[in-house]
Amino acid sequence: MVCKLNQNAEAVVDLRSDTVTKPTDAMREAMARAAVGDDVFGDDPTVRELEETAARMLGKEAALFLPSGTMANLAALLAHAEPGREVLLGETSHIYYYEVGGVSRIAGLFPRLFRGEDGHPAPDELRALLRPANIHFPKAALLCLENTHNLAGGVVLAPERMRALIQVARDAGLRVHLDGARLFNAARALQVDVRELTADVDSVMISLSKGLSAPVGSLLAGERGFVERARKARKMLGGGMRQAGVIAAAGIVALQTMVERLGEDHAVAAAIADELAAVDGIGIDRSRVQTNIIVFSVPGDGWSERGPSGESLTPADAFLQRLARRGVLAVPRDARHVRFVTHRHVRMDDVSRIAAAVRASL
Ligand SMILES: *Cc1c(COP(=O)(O)O)cnc(C)c1O
Repeated sequence: MVCKLNQNAEAVVDLRSDTVTKPTDAMREAMARAAVGDDVFGDDPTVRELEETAARMLGKEAALFLPSGTMANLAALLAHAEPGREVLLGETSHIYYYEVGGVSRIAGLFPRLFRGEDGHPAPDELRALLRPANIHFPKAALLCLENTHNLAGGVVLAPERMRALIQVARDAGLRVHLDGARLFNAARALQVDVRELTADVDSVMISLSKGLSAPVGSLLAGERGFVERARKARKMLGGGMRQAGVIAAAGIVALQTMVERLGEDHAVAAAIADELAAVDGIGIDRSRVQTNIIVFSVPGDGWSERGPSGESLTPADAFLQRLARRGVLAVPRDARHVRFVTHRHVRMDDVSRIAAAVRASL
């Protein structure tokens, strides 16, 4: 079910995603006065400043500004590995699950999948996926990690666990890419500098357009040679932008002013989770609410809602239809599970109203 934002925007609490965040006034002012040039010629000073700022914050030599996280991940795959090579990928990873199969269709890579309750396996399980050189097997080239893990419910991958997985990859001669769309959320929850999470990977992607509230864009960072290959891949994918300083300006403000406040989103998510845990019929694992994502189950039966053409709905969709009528928007995770995402436009004041809407919708 797709819930569209209705006209009465004032009354709506939108928990569909942190991508619904709008640019701040400071971002709009920076956009209006941004110095620009043709970035495909390398002439846009604001894009260059954003890329240099991101590279510094992420502890990498260089960074590249791209229109989306999906394109940044794809450019990374193209820059890291030749077609036909194998990539070790989580079966619930964003790259595998939500990116239209670009890993195979466009990058030409062969995914070898790992499982894990929080999206990542134990080091031994990862090692068991690596196969010896043999005429039958494609040669593995890359490991992809995700922090925070979206489908696992925004859980964090701690530095020690991350290092253990990276060590397995290094022993086998693989490169490592980190999908860090919400990496600053992870760093905040783990109370570490973001560089502690990027130091051991070859490349990292971060999103500006989620909790950081910029209107558009992601960054891909790594060694200079890697970033230049990714720049070429970006051009091939149609992501070479011209006076992109107009949007990069908002990204600079995002990195300078929006990282610190992510803790507020986590506090609101924790408060919502506490409320949900007390509601009969809701199933929630409180320990998995670590950042700004909350996943919970609704009862499997007792729903009479119908879709637009009279079809029966999943319990999650039926629940979400009732919730939307009470001004709270969210998306299903699967037939029985619902996902809430907190962000700058959801405040502590909204928590009791969200809880009341959930109770009334059951
Ligand atoms: C949102 C997201 C992306 C993709 O970002 P888009 O800008 O929406 O393309 C990639 N990875 C993860 C983990 C995400 O949550």
